Amino acid sequence: MKTRFAPSPTGHLHVGGARTALFNWLAARHAGGEFVLRIEDTDLQRSKPEYTRDILSSLSWLGLDSDGEPVYQTQRAEIYSEYAGRLLASGDAYWCHCPQERIDEARRLALENKDKPRYDGRCRDLGLGPAPGAVLRFKCPPDGLTGWNDIVKGPVSFDNGELDDLVIVRSDGFPTYNMAVVADDVSMGITHVLRGDDHVNNTPRQLLLYRALKAPEPEFGHLPMIMGGDRKRLSKRHGATSVLAFREMGYLPQALVNYLARLGWSSGDREIFTLAEMTSLFSLSSIGKSAAVFNGDKLDWLNAHYIKETPEEGLAELMRPFLAGLGLTGLDEGKLQAAAGTVRERGKTLRELAEKAAFYFRGKVELDPKAADKLLTEEGRDILRGYLPALERLPESAEDFDALLDSISRRRGIKKGAAAQPLRLALTGSTASPGLYEVLVILGTETARRRIEAALEFRA
Ligand code: GLU
Repeated sequence: MKTRFAPSPTGHLHVGGARTALFNWLAARHAGGEFVLRIEDTDLQRSKPEYTRDILSSLSWLGLDSDGEPVYQTQRAEIYSEYAGRLLASGDAYWCHCPQERIDEARRLALENKDKPRYDGRCRDLGLGPAPGAVLRFKCPPDGLTGWNDIVKGPVSFDNGELDDLVIVRSDGFPTYNMAVVADDVSMGITHVLRGDDHVNNTPRQLLLYRALKAPEPEFGHLPMIMGGDRKRLSKRHGATSVLAFREMGYLPQALVNYLARLGWSSGDREIFTLAEMTSLFSLSSIGKSAAVFNGDKLDWLNAHYIKETPEEGLAELMRPFLAGLGLTGLDEGKLQAAAGTVRERGKTLRELAEKAAFYFRGKVELDPKAADKLLTEEGRDILRGYLPALERLPESAEDFDALLDSISRRRGIKKGAAAQPLRLALTGSTASPGLYEVLVILGTETARRRIEAALEFRA
């Protein structure tokens, strides 16, 4: 088995493309076959090297390695002319000299009559040669059916009468999309083509080219589209759609890959799979037929799961760039790991974890003003002052700290939570934080004292 992912570098890799890549990768890896990457960069106006770089880095971030170097269509002109030449030699293609105005006019008339715009075949049997401005067209059979047994959709067929004599080489000498894809897939020995179902209409045209070339046909599978919550095709309107955007929001590649696999593939009712587990369980026959809805909550749930599974050292490193984004750099490794351990269950993305851990590293904490109004009353300040002597040294254990809270709350006749809140606000800036004992241990007594004093002076 040899599969390929063939993106056009006209934008960032989006989740639909990433899912196509993943299914091709899984199919190949499951079968012990090959997975190759082909950059379809023939649209010179819209293709950009930065998008190619984004596609390559997104795939490698997701863990979808390809075999061999990526292939670029712009470097394969010779192969395309060889295949076009073969079609010309076998009488399956012909030069067409019709001026563009004539084609445009026929198109206009067809649309006016609500017909499909088709080429009328005027040059088909004229035996014309190449000429400036001429295009090469494929002779499509005028009738009959072209069909295949789609891996996902089952039997599909098109009436050849619906297709027309498609241009395979444009007047500038460039091959058209269908010609290039077939020449590539044949010459690269691709055995299975899995792609989005927006390509279904191209498949009969490509199959006719295979048949004319007498080339072995690959199997085709068209993946149902991914929709947004409103059941319309997933697009930027629905929020983030590029792999890069998810990466920048703090999703882990394991979570995204797991999520994308489940958009159209299943194995019983299991939800959590590593890439290795998916590889061993994957089968082409378990790809679903119905369109999948992108569900951000489920992605969040998976991300929280993989965050929990990541060891502290790893999590600390993953959080570093997000903390840097908050202006916090050069952080001590040990402190960062300890901090990561206290927030790992408190957020769904690395960005959220970084936001929740930022207070550990700031020179000064910014107190939540509403909480400060509520908690830094005369009594609150008094409670806070009471911690200063006790916290000259760190409590020995969580129990020891709890006993301190206990004694303060009993002395004042308030609840333990009420005794803890002014301290929490002073140390972390907010009323929700990791456990105070852990916070104290990570901050140390010196920082704790400074923060308590700063809170006592706040609007005093
Ligand atoms: N380059 C095409 C695209 O990005 C894919 C072609 C194919 O998979 O056959 O939609």
